[in-house]
Amino acid sequence: MTRSRWLAATLVFSLVVVAGCGGASGSSAPAAASASPAAASASPSAAISAAPSASDASSAASDASSAGSDSSSSGSDSSSSAVAACSAPASPTPSQTEGPYFTAGSPEKSSLVEPGMDGTPLTLTGFVVTTECTPIVGAKVDVWQADAGGTYDNAGYRLRGYVVTDATGRYTIETIVPGEYPGRTEHIHVKVTPSGGATLTTQLYFPGVSANDADGIYSPDMLLDVMPQGDGFVGTFTFVLAA
Ligand code: FE
Repeated sequence: MTRSRWLAATLVFSLVVVAGCGGASGSSAPAAASASPAAASASPSAAISAAPSASDASSAASDASSAGSDSSSSGSDSSSSAVAACSAPASPTPSQTEGPYFTAGSPEKSSLVEPGMDGTPLTLTGFVVTTECTPIVGAKVDVWQADAGGTYDNAGYRLRGYVVTDATGRYTIETIVPGEYPGRTEHIHVKVTPSGGATLTTQLYFPGVSANDADGIYSPDMLLDVMPQGDGFVGTFTFVLAA
């Protein structure tokens, strides 16, 4: 995928988010996800920065720790706080198949990018929250994906690793945009496990990818909110876990 195509797709998706206030998922999670400060700093064009979700991102992020208690009162003002756009009760994030390439025991690491690795940089970030929109601290977010050529490392832990959500429920992991492989559009596998809780296994997708519609596993509910950042992108998604 070319950069120009990404930018076009991102612009279209941003406009959809603004118009639809949450997009296709029907839940508030993607809208909440769009409030990341990374997204705000990565909106160089006038068109993209016109999005309320981007311009209000810094204030939304600063409110993340109190989002749970404030969600009922601020939920009506979704333009001022995307975290608050997670109106309780939020719909739990759908699970998706693990697929054949999961490897247990991956290491904790904030970046999956290795020296000399090809691919477009991607900062994967967002929150893990309850259906009451309360941030979940200490949740394990375990990621695995194909490389830019569509190949998995099934012998080691290349492009495999996990991070743990911080005091605001936020996770951030540096990676690359995965390549497509036969039968599958661009996707990132994720397992989200709260401390002492059940694991959500699912997959994340990218807006504007032509192969999405031909992928039988693809779901628009699991689209990342993608914004440009430097020579790559920020992809944001907030996971809503059932109690
Ligand atoms: Fe896969």
